[in-house]
Amino acid sequence: MKRTILPDARRSPRFAGISTFCRYPRLEDVLPEHAPVDWAIYGVPVDAGVTYRPGARFGPRAVRAESQYVKRYSIEQDVDVCEALSLADAGDAPVEPYDLRASATAQLEFAKGLGTPGVTRLMAVGGDHTIAYGNLRATWERMGSPKGGLALVHFDSHLDTIDAVWGERWGHASVFRRAIEDGVVDPAAMISVGVKGPLNSAKDLEYARGLGVELVMSDRARREGESLLKAFVGRLRGRAAYITFDIDCVDPAYAPGTGTPSVGGLSSAEALGLLRALRGMKVAGADVVEVLPDRDVAGITALLAAHVMFEILCLDAVGRR
Ligand code: MN
Ligand code: MN
Repeated sequence: MKRTILPDARRSPRFAGISTFCRYPRLEDVLPEHAPVDWAIYGVPVDAGVTYRPGARFGPRAVRAESQYVKRYSIEQDVDVCEALSLADAGDAPVEPYDLRASATAQLEFAKGLGTPGVTRLMAVGGDHTIAYGNLRATWERMGSPKGGLALVHFDSHLDTIDAVWGERWGHASVFRRAIEDGVVDPAAMISVGVKGPLNSAKDLEYARGLGVELVMSDRARREGESLLKAFVGRLRGRAAYITFDIDCVDPAYAPGTGTPSVGGLSSAEALGLLRALRGMKVAGADVVEVLPDRDVAGITALLAAHVMFEILCLDAVGRR
Protein backbone atom coordinates (compact mmCIF):
# COMPACT_ATOMS: atom_id res chain seq x y z
CA MET A 1 0.00 0.00 0.00
CA LYS A 2 1.28 3.46 -0.85
CA ARG A 3 1.25 5.60 2.26
CA THR A 4 2.06 8.92 0.56
CA ILE A 5 0.28 9.95 -2.62
CA LEU A 6 2.41 12.13 -4.92
CA PRO A 7 1.09 14.03 -7.92
CA ASP A 8 1.69 11.98 -11.08
CA ALA A 9 4.71 13.69 -12.67
CA ARG A 10 3.60 12.50 -16.11
CA ARG A 11 0.37 14.47 -15.75
CA SER A 12 1.37 17.28 -13.40
CA PRO A 13 5.03 18.11 -14.19
CA ARG A 14 7.50 18.70 -11.38
CA PHE A 15 7.94 22.32 -12.45
CA ALA A 16 4.22 23.11 -12.16
CA GLY A 17 2.02 23.91 -9.20
CA ILE A 18 2.68 25.19 -5.70
CA SER A 19 5.79 23.59 -4.25
CA THR A 20 5.70 21.52 -1.07
CA PHE A 21 8.68 19.56 0.28
CA CYS A 22 9.39 16.78 -2.25
CA ARG A 23 5.81 17.20 -3.56
CA TYR A 24 4.45 15.54 -0.42
CA PRO A 25 0.83 16.50 0.37
CA ARG A 26 0.11 19.39 2.70
CA LEU A 27 -0.67 18.11 6.19
CA GLU A 28 -4.29 19.26 5.95
CA ASP A 29 -4.71 17.33 2.68
CA VAL A 30 -3.49 13.96 4.00
CA LEU A 31 -6.16 11.31 3.50
CA PRO A 32 -7.61 9.75 6.68
CA GLU A 33 -6.36 6.31 5.62
CA HIS A 34 -2.80 7.70 5.59
CA ALA A 35 -2.95 8.81 9.22
CA PRO A 36 -1.03 8.87 11.42
CA VAL A 37 1.53 10.88 9.48
CA ASP A 38 5.01 9.44 10.08
CA TRP A 39 6.82 12.70 9.34
CA ALA A 40 5.48 16.24 9.30
CA ILE A 41 8.07 18.42 7.58
CA TYR A 42 7.89 22.15 8.24
CA GLY A 43 9.93 25.24 7.48
CA VAL A 44 11.25 27.70 10.05
CA PRO A 45 12.18 30.88 8.15
CA VAL A 46 14.26 32.45 10.92
CA ASP A 47 17.83 33.77 10.76
CA ALA A 48 18.04 36.26 13.63
CA GLY A 49 20.36 33.82 15.45
CA VAL A 50 23.32 34.08 13.08
CA THR A 51 26.73 35.38 14.12
CA TYR A 52 27.84 36.19 10.58
CA ARG A 53 25.96 36.42 7.28
CA PRO A 54 22.13 36.47 7.42
CA GLY A 55 19.71 35.18 4.78
CA ALA A 56 18.84 31.64 5.89
CA ARG A 57 15.27 32.83 6.45
CA PHE A 58 14.85 32.15 2.73
CA GLY A 59 16.07 28.56 3.17
CA PRO A 60 12.71 26.76 3.46
CA ARG A 61 11.41 28.28 0.22
CA ALA A 62 14.60 27.42 -1.66
CA VAL A 63 14.64 23.86 -0.34
CA ARG A 64 11.00 23.38 -1.27
CA ALA A 65 11.72 24.61 -4.80
CA GLU A 66 14.79 22.40 -5.29
CA SER A 67 13.11 19.37 -3.72
CA GLN A 68 10.63 19.06 -6.57
CA TYR A 69 13.06 16.78 -8.34
CA VAL A 70 13.62 14.45 -5.40
CA LYS A 71 11.96 11.19 -6.33
CA ARG A 72 10.66 8.45 -4.06
CA TYR A 73 12.86 5.38 -4.45
CA SER A 74 16.41 5.14 -3.10
CA ILE A 75 18.80 2.94 -5.09
CA GLU A 76 21.37 2.90 -2.29
CA GLN A 77 18.95 2.00 0.48
CA ASP A 78 16.53 -0.03 -1.68
CA VAL A 79 13.47 1.61 -0.22
CA ASP A 80 10.50 3.60 -1.51
CA VAL A 81 9.80 6.25 1.12
CA CYS A 82 6.28 6.86 -0.17
CA GLU A 83 5.39 3.20 0.20
CA ALA A 84 6.94 2.92 3.64
CA LEU A 85 5.93 6.23 5.20
CA SER A 86 3.08 8.72 5.37
CA LEU A 87 4.75 12.10 4.72
CA ALA A 88 3.40 15.64 4.76
CA ASP A 89 4.43 19.27 4.45
CA ALA A 90 3.08 21.11 7.49
CA GLY A 91 3.86 24.59 6.15
CA ASP A 92 6.02 27.04 8.07
CA ALA A 93 6.16 27.64 11.81
CA PRO A 94 5.08 31.13 12.90
CA VAL A 95 8.03 33.52 13.22
CA GLU A 96 8.78 36.85 14.93
CA PRO A 97 11.51 38.40 12.76
CA TYR A 98 12.37 41.09 15.34
CA ASP A 99 12.47 38.73 18.32
CA LEU A 100 14.46 35.50 18.20
CA ARG A 101 13.29 34.21 21.59
CA ALA A 102 9.65 34.88 20.76
CA SER A 103 10.21 33.06 17.48
CA ALA A 104 11.69 30.08 19.29
CA THR A 105 8.69 29.95 21.64
CA ALA A 106 6.24 30.22 18.74
CA GLN A 107 8.04 27.44 16.88
CA LEU A 108 8.02 25.20 19.95
CA GLU A 109 4.29 25.66 20.49
CA PHE A 110 3.64 25.04 16.78
CA ALA A 111 5.78 21.89 16.74
CA LYS A 112 4.34 20.53 19.98
CA GLY A 113 0.82 20.87 18.67
CA LEU A 114 1.47 19.71 15.11
CA GLY A 115 -1.19 17.24 14.12
CA THR A 116 -1.25 15.79 17.65
CA PRO A 117 -1.85 12.91 17.92
CA GLY A 118 -1.88 12.34 14.17
CA VAL A 119 1.82 13.03 13.57
CA THR A 120 4.59 10.87 14.96
CA ARG A 121 7.84 12.62 13.89
CA LEU A 122 8.96 16.15 13.12
CA MET A 123 11.48 17.41 10.59
CA ALA A 124 12.31 21.13 10.62
CA VAL A 125 13.97 22.94 7.72
CA GLY A 126 15.77 26.18 8.58
CA GLY A 127 16.51 28.83 8.98
CA ASP A 128 19.66 29.13 11.07
CA HIS A 129 20.70 26.41 13.53
CA THR A 130 18.84 28.11 16.40
CA ILE A 131 15.69 26.46 15.09
CA ALA A 132 17.00 23.03 16.09
CA TYR A 133 16.14 23.80 19.72
CA GLY A 134 12.38 24.07 19.18
CA ASN A 135 12.23 20.91 17.12
CA LEU A 136 14.44 18.96 19.52
CA ARG A 137 12.43 20.11 22.51
CA ALA A 138 9.07 19.39 20.84
CA THR A 139 10.33 15.92 19.83
CA TRP A 140 11.57 15.25 23.35
CA GLU A 141 8.34 16.45 24.99
CA ARG A 142 6.21 14.44 22.57
CA MET A 143 8.22 11.37 23.62
CA GLY A 144 7.28 12.06 27.25
CA SER A 145 10.39 14.10 28.18
CA PRO A 146 12.62 11.05 28.78
CA LYS A 147 15.08 11.63 31.60
CA GLY A 148 18.61 12.21 30.35
CA GLY A 149 17.48 13.71 27.05
CA LEU A 150 17.76 12.66 23.43
CA ALA A 151 20.69 11.00 21.71
CA LEU A 152 21.95 13.30 18.98
CA VAL A 153 23.83 12.93 15.70
CA HIS A 154 25.15 16.39 14.85
CA PHE A 155 26.66 17.19 11.45
CA ASP A 156 28.38 20.57 11.47
CA SER A 157 31.64 22.43 10.90
CA HIS A 158 30.98 24.08 14.25
CA LEU A 159 30.44 22.88 17.80
CA ASP A 160 27.43 25.14 18.50
CA THR A 161 28.12 24.83 22.23
CA ILE A 162 29.51 28.34 22.84
CA ASP A 163 27.96 29.79 26.00
CA ALA A 164 27.24 33.29 24.64
CA VAL A 165 28.08 35.56 21.71
CA TRP A 166 28.01 39.35 22.23
CA GLY A 167 26.59 38.57 25.68
CA GLU A 168 23.58 36.82 24.12
CA ARG A 169 23.01 33.21 25.17
CA TRP A 170 20.45 32.48 22.49
CA GLY A 171 21.84 32.02 18.98
CA HIS A 172 23.06 29.49 16.44
CA ALA A 173 26.48 29.08 18.11
CA SER A 174 24.88 28.21 21.47
CA VAL A 175 21.96 26.01 20.51
CA PHE A 176 23.30 22.67 21.82
CA ARG A 177 24.67 24.24 24.99
CA ARG A 178 21.11 25.31 25.83
CA ALA A 179 19.64 21.96 24.78
CA ILE A 180 22.14 20.11 27.01
CA GLU A 181 21.58 22.48 29.97
CA ASP A 182 17.81 22.02 29.65
CA GLY A 183 18.09 18.22 29.65
CA VAL A 184 16.77 17.94 26.08
CA VAL A 185 20.03 16.48 24.70
CA ASP A 186 22.18 13.81 26.37
CA PRO A 187 25.80 14.88 25.78
CA ALA A 188 27.05 11.39 26.59
CA ALA A 189 25.00 10.14 23.63
CA MET A 190 25.94 12.95 21.23
CA ILE A 191 28.34 12.79 18.31
CA SER A 192 29.44 15.88 16.35
CA VAL A 193 30.67 14.98 12.88
CA GLY A 194 32.59 17.19 10.45
CA VAL A 195 33.97 19.76 12.90
CA LYS A 196 36.70 21.84 11.28
CA GLY A 197 38.16 25.24 10.67
CA PRO A 198 39.72 27.71 13.08
CA LEU A 199 37.88 28.24 16.35
CA ASN A 200 37.84 31.32 18.53
CA SER A 201 40.01 29.48 21.04
CA ALA A 202 41.12 26.03 22.16
CA LYS A 203 38.73 26.46 25.09
CA ASP A 204 35.78 26.09 22.72
CA LEU A 205 36.50 22.37 22.58
CA GLU A 206 36.64 21.89 26.34
CA TYR A 207 32.94 22.19 27.12
CA ALA A 208 31.87 19.57 24.57
CA ARG A 209 34.70 17.18 25.39
CA GLY A 210 34.22 17.62 29.12
CA LEU A 211 30.61 16.47 28.87
CA GLY A 212 31.49 13.42 26.83
CA VAL A 213 30.41 14.59 23.38
CA GLU A 214 32.20 12.49 20.76
CA LEU A 215 33.92 14.88 18.33
CA VAL A 216 34.80 13.60 14.88
CA MET A 217 36.83 16.25 13.09
CA SER A 218 36.24 16.64 9.38
CA ASP A 219 39.45 14.93 8.20
CA ARG A 220 38.75 11.93 10.39
CA ALA A 221 35.10 11.89 9.27
CA ARG A 222 36.28 11.55 5.67
CA ARG A 223 38.62 8.68 6.52
CA GLU A 224 36.70 6.67 9.08
CA GLY A 225 33.38 8.45 9.66
CA GLU A 226 31.28 5.55 8.42
CA SER A 227 32.79 3.06 10.86
CA LEU A 228 32.65 5.58 13.73
CA LEU A 229 28.95 6.24 13.06
CA LYS A 230 28.20 2.52 12.83
CA ALA A 231 29.90 2.06 16.21
CA PHE A 232 27.87 4.97 17.62
CA VAL A 233 24.63 3.32 16.42
CA GLY A 234 25.76 0.08 18.07
CA ARG A 235 26.30 1.85 21.38
CA LEU A 236 22.75 3.28 21.24
CA ARG A 237 21.41 -0.30 21.59
CA GLY A 238 18.13 0.52 19.91
CA ARG A 239 17.67 3.92 21.54
CA ALA A 240 16.27 6.46 19.04
CA ALA A 241 18.43 9.44 18.09
CA TYR A 242 17.71 12.81 16.57
CA ILE A 243 19.67 13.96 13.50
CA THR A 244 20.63 17.63 13.11
CA PHE A 245 22.33 18.51 9.82
CA ASP A 246 24.04 21.89 9.40
CA ILE A 247 24.77 22.13 5.68
CA ASP A 248 28.09 23.91 6.40
CA CYS A 249 29.69 20.54 7.27
CA VAL A 250 29.84 20.14 3.50
CA ASP A 251 32.65 21.95 1.70
CA PRO A 252 31.66 25.34 0.24
CA ALA A 253 32.67 23.95 -3.16
CA TYR A 254 29.56 21.75 -2.90
CA ALA A 255 27.44 23.88 -0.57
CA PRO A 256 28.35 27.55 -1.04
CA GLY A 257 24.93 28.79 0.05
CA THR A 258 25.47 29.08 3.77
CA GLY A 259 26.21 31.88 6.23
CA THR A 260 29.33 30.64 8.05
CA PRO A 261 31.19 28.64 5.39
CA SER A 262 34.23 26.62 6.40
CA VAL A 263 36.62 25.23 3.81
CA GLY A 264 38.06 21.73 3.65
CA GLY A 265 34.83 19.90 4.37
CA LEU A 266 32.95 16.83 3.20
CA SER A 267 31.90 16.36 -0.38
CA SER A 268 28.18 15.89 -1.06
CA ALA A 269 28.81 12.19 -1.70
CA GLU A 270 30.72 11.78 1.55
CA ALA A 271 27.98 13.50 3.54
CA LEU A 272 25.29 11.27 2.03
CA GLY A 273 27.49 8.23 2.68
CA LEU A 274 27.84 9.19 6.33
CA LEU A 275 24.07 9.51 6.66
CA ARG A 276 23.62 6.06 5.12
CA ALA A 277 26.10 4.67 7.66
CA LEU A 278 23.42 5.35 10.29
CA ARG A 279 21.35 2.53 8.78
CA GLY A 280 19.65 0.59 11.55
CA MET A 281 19.34 3.59 13.85
CA LYS A 282 15.88 4.60 15.01
CA VAL A 283 15.32 8.24 14.01
CA ALA A 284 13.49 10.32 16.61
CA GLY A 285 13.33 13.53 14.59
CA ALA A 286 15.51 15.73 12.42
CA ASP A 287 16.38 19.14 11.11
CA VAL A 288 18.33 20.48 8.13
CA VAL A 289 19.60 24.02 8.58
CA GLU A 290 21.75 26.95 7.45
CA VAL A 291 20.86 27.06 3.74
CA LEU A 292 21.35 30.65 2.54
CA PRO A 293 19.96 30.88 -1.00
CA ASP A 294 21.37 34.33 -1.81
CA ARG A 295 24.92 32.90 -1.55
CA ASP A 296 24.03 29.72 -3.41
CA VAL A 297 25.14 28.85 -6.94
CA ALA A 298 22.60 27.21 -9.23
CA GLY A 299 20.61 26.02 -6.22
CA ILE A 300 23.13 23.28 -5.39
CA THR A 301 23.08 23.87 -1.63
CA ALA A 302 19.29 23.80 -1.44
CA LEU A 303 19.25 20.71 -3.68
CA LEU A 304 21.73 18.98 -1.37
CA ALA A 305 19.58 19.93 1.65
CA ALA A 306 16.57 18.33 -0.07
CA HIS A 307 18.58 15.14 -0.61
CA VAL A 308 19.72 15.14 3.01
CA MET A 309 16.05 15.26 4.03
CA PHE A 310 15.36 12.35 1.69
CA GLU A 311 18.25 10.25 3.07
CA ILE A 312 16.97 10.78 6.62
CA LEU A 313 13.48 9.64 5.57
CA CYS A 314 15.06 6.60 3.90
CA LEU A 315 16.87 5.73 7.14
CA ASP A 316 13.58 5.74 8.98
CA ALA A 317 11.87 3.74 6.24
CA VAL A 318 14.62 1.11 6.25
CA GLY A 319 14.62 0.98 10.06
CA ARG A 320 10.95 0.00 10.10
CA ARG A 321 11.36 -3.04 7.88
MN1 MN B 1 25.44 24.78 13.32
MN1 MN C 1 27.91 25.36 11.27
